[in-house]
This record gives sequence, structure tokens and C-alpha cells, in this order.
Amino acid sequence: MKPATCHIDLHSHSTASDGRLAPAALVQAASAAGVRVLALTDHDTVGGLDEADAAARACGLRLVPGVELSVTWNKRTIHVLGLAIDPAAAALQAALARLQACRTERAERIAAKLEKRGVGGALAYAATLADGGQLTRTHFARVLVYEGYCRDVAQAFKQYLAQGRSAHVASEWIDLETAVAAIRAAGGYAVLAHPMKYRLRRSGREQLYQAFAAAGGVAVEVCCGNTTPQDVRTLGQEARAHGLYGSAGSDFHGPEQHWLGLGRVAPLPEGVTPLWTQPGFADPGTPAA
Ligand code: AMP
Ligand code: MN
Ligand code: MN
Ligand code: MN
Repeated sequence: MKPATCHIDLHSHSTASDGRLAPAALVQAASAAGVRVLALTDHDTVGGLDEADAAARACGLRLVPGVELSVTWNKRTIHVLGLAIDPAAAALQAALARLQACRTERAERIAAKLEKRGVGGALAYAATLADGGQLTRTHFARVLVYEGYCRDVAQAFKQYLAQGRSAHVASEWIDLETAVAAIRAAGGYAVLAHPMKYRLRRSGREQLYQAFAAAGGVAVEVCCGNTTPQDVRTLGQEARAHGLYGSAGSDFHGPEQHWLGLGRVAPLPEGVTPLWTQPGFADPGTPAA
């Protein structure tokens, strides 16, 4: 594992959703890479947090309880991170129950579309791979690779699962206001995840920031595993202009993403206030002020 460039990583996935490492193994890998403060942010579930927290206590790392909620905004899927949440909060649990039902229903429809394209048994296989965690498109992509239909996960998305492709299913996730309200009700910070991934123009991102801030969102993920230096500058300026904190996280899913590692995120640009100046993110090795 490459060494961390940042001791804080506020976006990562485990086997509770589409990550490769079990929560405890993820925490241990983060710690070994030099990460001191890690948020576990699985897609639409908090199911990995207990195990991650126990592992974090054992290795002296701060585990920030998190989640990555799927949201439909202006007919697009947007991801909103909830950080430093109380996973048991009722409003959050209600949002998660709805999202998980959406996932189950969508998985059936994806499998039906794959079946029509000659790929049989995908639902059962994907569910086996998910092993009780949230069923995601990544699991279907892995099925397509393991069954020899695609050479890798990227190709599976390109050929079958991405928007506009033959096995894509448009989903009605929860709306932006509901997601942010659920995070706030759980005492957490709502962070707009990877704004460059939505194929929005600047004007579209502006609209999104406005809606997000109006709903009670507080931060933008300025530095992510996939952002370029130009993206970081742009997102930093946009965060500042909207009075939002900056956040940073790798969006680590597994060692096969060899270009991306735990803690491997650029520093926030100057003038952007880090979200981790707020309560809930202190390095356990630092004595309280
Ligand atoms: P879902 O939330 O089930 O629609 O799955 C979304 C997940 O699929 C993302 O969080 C990524 O991990 C993964 N993903 C989306 N697009 C791609 C892509 N083009 N290549 C590889 N993985 C992707
Ligand atoms: Mn993912
Ligand atoms: Mn995401
Ligand atoms: Mn993510």
C-alpha cells in the first residue's frame, strides 16, 4: 500500500457496500498507510461502522462514522456524504430503509435487463458477492467480469451498466432535501461528494451548490482520489464562493484501484476552511485543547 499523503481521509468503502476490504481490514490498511482520521462512508448503509469502530479503537485511529447517500436531483444521481453521524438516528434509519428498498428493486430490474442480453443468473451471483452488504452496480460489474462477458469492471460499466447502456436502470433515490435533513437529524455534516463526477457544467454545479447549501449542506469534497490539480483549484474556489467547508477523501474501494490509495489526497487549497476544524474529527493522538 502506498503511503498516505494526508493523515485525514473522509471517504472510503468496505464490504458493507462495494469496497473490497472488510471494515476492520480497511481500518488496519488505513492505519498502516499513515491515516489517523478515517471516515467509513458506505453506500446507503451504516452496517460496517461497528466493526470499523472496534478496529479503530484497537489501533488508535479515529473512526468518523459516515455514510454515502444516493440522491436524485434534477433527474441525476448525486452522492451526499454524511460525516460524524449518529448511525442510530431515526430519520437516518428511515432514509436508509428507503434507499435499501430502492437498491433491491433496482437490482431485480438490472438483472432482468442482463437476462435479456443473455447474461443469466446475475441477481443471485451479485447477491452472493455482496454477501449481505448493499447490492451495487459494482457487484453486477464483477459478475460480468467473472462470467467472462467483460475484461474488467470499467468495461462492464461502459458496455452494460453506465447511464444510457443496455442494462442501466434509472433509479428514484431520495431527494436532496430529505438526504441532508436525515444527516442533520443524525447530528452529522452533509458533504457534497465528488462534484466533478456529475458531468455538470459550471452553471449546473452552481445550481447544485445553491440547492445543497439551502438544504443545509455544509461542505464540498474538494480533494478526492480522482480530482486533478485543476479540479482542486476550481472546487476550492467554488466552495469558498458558497461559504462551504472543504472536505477531502480518497473514495477508496480496494487495492485494485492501484492509482488511488487510502490517505492519498491532495491538500486543500489555501483559503478553503477544512471541515475537520469542526468537532468530531480530532486525531486521537492529539491531546484535547
Ligand atoms: P450504484 O450506487 O449501485 O449505482 O453504484 C455506483 C458505484 O459504481 C460507484 O460508487 C462506483 O464505485 C462504481 N462506478 C460507477 N461508475 C463506474 C465506472 N465507470 N467504472 C468503475 N466503477 C464505477
Ligand atoms: Mn462505490
Ligand atoms: Mn460516490
Ligand atoms: Mn464513494
